[in-house]
Amino acid sequence: DTRTVVIVGTGIAGSGAAQALRKEGFGGSIILIGSETEEPYRRPALSKELLSGKASIDRVRLRPPTFWTEQGIDLRIGVTVTSIDTDSRTVCLVDGDSIDYDVLILAAGGRSRRLTAEDSERVHYLRDIADMRRLQSQLIEGSSLLVVGGGLIGSEVASTARDLGCSVQVLEAQPVPLSRLLPPSIAEKIAALHASAGVALQTGVDLETLTTGVDGVTARARDGREWTADLAVVAIGSLPDTDVAAAAGIAVDNGISVDRYLRTSVIDVYAIGDVANVPNGFLGGMHRGEHWNTAQDHAVAVAKTIVGKEEPFESVPWSWSNQFGRNIQVAGWPGADDTVIVRGDLDSYDFTAICMRDGNIVGAVSVGRPKDIRAVRTLIERSPDISVDVLADSNRDLTELAAGLVASPV
Ligand code: NAD
Repeated sequence: DTRTVVIVGTGIAGSGAAQALRKEGFGGSIILIGSETEEPYRRPALSKELLSGKASIDRVRLRPPTFWTEQGIDLRIGVTVTSIDTDSRTVCLVDGDSIDYDVLILAAGGRSRRLTAEDSERVHYLRDIADMRRLQSQLIEGSSLLVVGGGLIGSEVASTARDLGCSVQVLEAQPVPLSRLLPPSIAEKIAALHASAGVALQTGVDLETLTTGVDGVTARARDGREWTADLAVVAIGSLPDTDVAAAAGIAVDNGISVDRYLRTSVIDVYAIGDVANVPNGFLGGMHRGEHWNTAQDHAVAVAKTIVGKEEPFESVPWSWSNQFGRNIQVAGWPGADDTVIVRGDLDSYDFTAICMRDGNIVGAVSVGRPKDIRAVRTLIERSPDISVDVLADSNRDLTELAAGLVASPV
């Protein structure tokens, strides 16, 4: 193969695609470019072991530094792509250089959604190592923290900050935190976990301003409520990085639109990871997943497409989070209106909550039961219309049920 594959983005999607191409036997050139100045690392560590200081960057690298050269992958970090010319098949870099490609994979991920507050040294976002280091330098014992947004970053930062001895107030717009990810009854339990660890939670916050004064940062809600702390972390979601693709005429709609082979609207240009909006074979419609595991699965799938072993992309997502010593895992697509079947005990944080929609299993949330999450993914894939009675019967082990399906597929 004499083709040159250029990959934009060194997160798990981009660097995973480079590795997967070699694993699939691709013998052409691979150029992996990213604007981040660190070699590929595990981004989920940013809000957890890196921020807490329990791990150094060297401990969370995806691969040892020699790996990329050994694999014949030309890794170029600290390099930003400013435009793409899909006619001449070149990407232009911020320093004026350009690189020719035969195949282009766009894996630039996303960026933090920002408040229209003035930037100040007390206001933080968390997306990359530089953000993490800046936040870490201020997150010291005894300091007070406002967390704007009780989603995954907000909840994980709250947990890490409490461990570091900071006081924490979370300001969430919705009636419960984590509402994008969990059904409300389960989100309430996680909120209770935060409360018992001393996190002060404010919900239904319609933030009007976030201002920095000499004494700290003050958040004001439209209903007149007001909170002040030494610093603030704003974690109100992320936006897919589509500007360069859109300017190149590649179809964009809530991310870069791709088909089930991860092909964009332009030939030989692919998109994967957080930035890709992919048809969902299970639920119908399009789905833009923002999780590690989705990015990893896209990476393998796009490599297969490029080497001519394409299969339609199909994967039930899962994700995990660590908060206050609990391992929370999510499979599939839990929704606010799902019927929830609880196995185990909510109060002792040892449970799996299964989400049913229109008679089908669509997702699950577990605390401390990762094996159940693996099993639920198999059930969603192979037997979504499994009976509620079977699922509700805690004598029936989910792993055994799933194993039966794998042994004798329906
Ligand atoms: P998120 O979408 O998970 O949560 C954003 C939260 O902010 C939501 O609860 C939302 O209701 C709230 N919100 C939005 N606007 C607000 C406002 N003006 N005031 C107050 N609250 C507001 O996004 P995130 O936590 O910023 O995370 C960004 C990305 O990183 C997501 O894609 C997430 O999946 C990913 N991430 C994943 C993990 C994990 O899988 N464990 C951990 C960290 C981050």
